[in-house]
Amino acid sequence: MFMSLGTGAKARFDSIREINNRSPRKIDPPRDEDGKRLPVSEFFGVNTFDISRMKEKLPRDVFQKLRLTIDLGKKLDSDVANTVANAAKEWAISRGCTHFCHWFQPQTGNTAEKHDAFLTFDDNGHPMEKFSGSQLIQSEPDASSFPSGGMRTTFEARGYTAWDPSSPMFIMESANSKTLCIPSVFISYHGDALDEKTGLLRSMEALSKVACELLTVTGLEGVNRVVPTLGVEQEYFLVDRALFSLRPDLIMTGRTLVGGQPPKGQQLEDHYFGAIPTRVLAFMSEVEHELFKLGVPAKTRHNEVAPNQFELAPIFEEANVATDHNQLTMEVLRKVAQRHHFAVLLHEKPFAGVNGSGKHNNWALMVTASGDDLNGMNLLDPGKTPHQNLRFLLVLTSILKGVHKHAGLLRAAIASSGNDHRLGANEAPPAIMSVFLGEMLSRILNEIDKGTVADKGAEQAVIKLGVSQIPEVAKDNTDRNRTSPFAFTGNKFEFRAVGSSASTAFPVTVLNAAVADGMTETLSVLNDSVKRGMKLEDAIMETVRKTVKETEKVRFEGNGYSEEWVHEAARRGLPNLRKTPEALAQLMEAKAIELFSQFGIFSEAEVHSRLHIRLERYLKNLQIEVETLRSMIDTQILPTCYAYSGDLAASVKANLDAGVPAPHKETLLRLNGLIGSLQVKRKELETVHQKAEASHGEEAKAKHYAVEVSASMLDIRSVADELESMIGDDYWPLPKYREMLFST
Ligand code: ADP
Ligand code: MG
Repeated sequence: MFMSLGTGAKARFDSIREINNRSPRKIDPPRDEDGKRLPVSEFFGVNTFDISRMKEKLPRDVFQKLRLTIDLGKKLDSDVANTVANAAKEWAISRGCTHFCHWFQPQTGNTAEKHDAFLTFDDNGHPMEKFSGSQLIQSEPDASSFPSGGMRTTFEARGYTAWDPSSPMFIMESANSKTLCIPSVFISYHGDALDEKTGLLRSMEALSKVACELLTVTGLEGVNRVVPTLGVEQEYFLVDRALFSLRPDLIMTGRTLVGGQPPKGQQLEDHYFGAIPTRVLAFMSEVEHELFKLGVPAKTRHNEVAPNQFELAPIFEEANVATDHNQLTMEVLRKVAQRHHFAVLLHEKPFAGVNGSGKHNNWALMVTASGDDLNGMNLLDPGKTPHQNLRFLLVLTSILKGVHKHAGLLRAAIASSGNDHRLGANEAPPAIMSVFLGEMLSRILNEIDKGTVADKGAEQAVIKLGVSQIPEVAKDNTDRNRTSPFAFTGNKFEFRAVGSSASTAFPVTVLNAAVADGMTETLSVLNDSVKRGMKLEDAIMETVRKTVKETEKVRFEGNGYSEEWVHEAARRGLPNLRKTPEALAQLMEAKAIELFSQFGIFSEAEVHSRLHIRLERYLKNLQIEVETLRSMIDTQILPTCYAYSGDLAASVKANLDAGVPAPHKETLLRLNGLIGSLQVKRKELETVHQKAEASHGEEAKAKHYAVEVSASMLDIRSVADELESMIGDDYWPLPKYREMLFST
């Protein structure tokens, strides 16, 4: 009697063999007539109907009217819309498009599109291509299946998508067709925001308005708009598709619900900026190629800290365009990954015990103006003259004020079931919102706070403080604080706590709103001082000093990962909202409702709907996780345990029957003990799950899931992972961490 060989692992082993035989996928890059590879600048944006293409294709007066709409939000008249639509159609058809679609961002985290053919029939019944101004401007998808958080009653299920001319139209290519995509907002019959983009655009407008006022008071003239700029560093994992397809948890939830730690994780720190594996580089190159055609300025690519973790960062753009481009980037990453036999994991924490993924939102404020000297100026650049320094300090402290006042809301803006696993874990920014400024700026603010330079005139004070030297210092200042959720990095803030799978729209909306609020308060303090007859420079310095004092608590230069910070933050009264349900509750605080309505960003009903949609998504994600874990335990892990235990028992019996000792009886006993324990934990999950489901109201339910259900899932995992570590390798059906993280 011999122990029978397990077959559970056959698919795993086959996959590894398959992976070892893979070679990098080659693409044929665009070439000139002589067959030489074209530089990227020659084909960048070929698939976009951007400003320069519009200028080329549109009559001069139409183009100028359109510019007014794009730059200043002026209403578009129907003649202009018809001309633009016609030009866009001609261009799209010449590039092989058969369809068009309004491309928008419902609150699912993804994009949505409904395609319509250009095909129609003329009065004589002849087929022709048509695309009118009204089709460009507006469309009416069946909105009833998108989340509205109670915004729409079913009898008014209509929702409209409306062209957002500030983001260029683009052509989406797929295997057999090309589609002209029209970036759009999605609103209800009554004009309520049903999507992610509307709020973002409204927040940009509000922020611009108050920022322009503030600049005017500081004596800066000729500013048209102040635009938040955004550069989004996108982190992701790659796992070979063959292994991915054997993991129900990755397929259903985007993260591993079980899986033991490999002997080697990221502790050797040899992956970060290491040589990019050949197959991965081939993948990245194709991603970039696709992005370049779409006008997405992909700039950097590198290995991230964890094994098989990578990053892509574009050159920054206006926040609304950057948001669209980040959505496109995630889509392209997913599509191209398939062609390379990879699955891209955008989840915030696909693997326990190794770093999670973020989406660092680099954010600054750019001036647009008619004059060349001002146009493009970054308000977060400290500048070189004392005068510029003063303005910089005024803007900087307004941001501090906004972040301090709305710290809880900013936390809510990044709340998701995925990000809960990352925030506060030992490698990601904590759930406590604080601001890191770096040694130089902190010293300057502290001295301003102490009033060390109070008796001097403001300009003198700035010189004495050495603010004029900031640009130089900031540039080669490498003391990056990776533990801060919101860090100043020389000429921009890096909102690092945003999750890798999230849309940047809502976090940036909230940030814009908070800063608009900070600036409004700054403006009122400043105006008061000026009215009292104070010299402008001194009034600015006075305002800055006041804000520095008020916002001291939100500044933190230390290690955000440390336990001391948790206590220190509690002493300072900073919110520490660890889990999504408590973070989301911030949305309903009077302060939040007031903020959004004050700036015309969201009505109370719109805020409500956002809370509900997010809570619902949180709940659904956790429900899917519970169901997936249950089925993996019941149909994969327990059966594997029984098979191994049975074979072990047979072998033990055979030895004893033969009259020889059976030392593996001990292993069998331990194994059976663990199996028993897994069964108990499995039952406990059932109990807490039922309790959670029986609780009344979404909030209460979400809390149960966040606490009891999550804890129970972790309990199960710890036993399952121990079992994985002792069961014969050729029995185990689920790809292991070492396989998923170390094969490419
Ligand atoms: P890091 O050292 O953090 O990688 P980088 O200089 O590579 O810094 O910048 C990271 C991101 O920040 C890039 O996407 C970049 O385009 C963006 N960025 C740079 N300047 C600005 C700015 N003024 N506004 C918004 N994003 C910016
Ligand atoms: Mg960075």
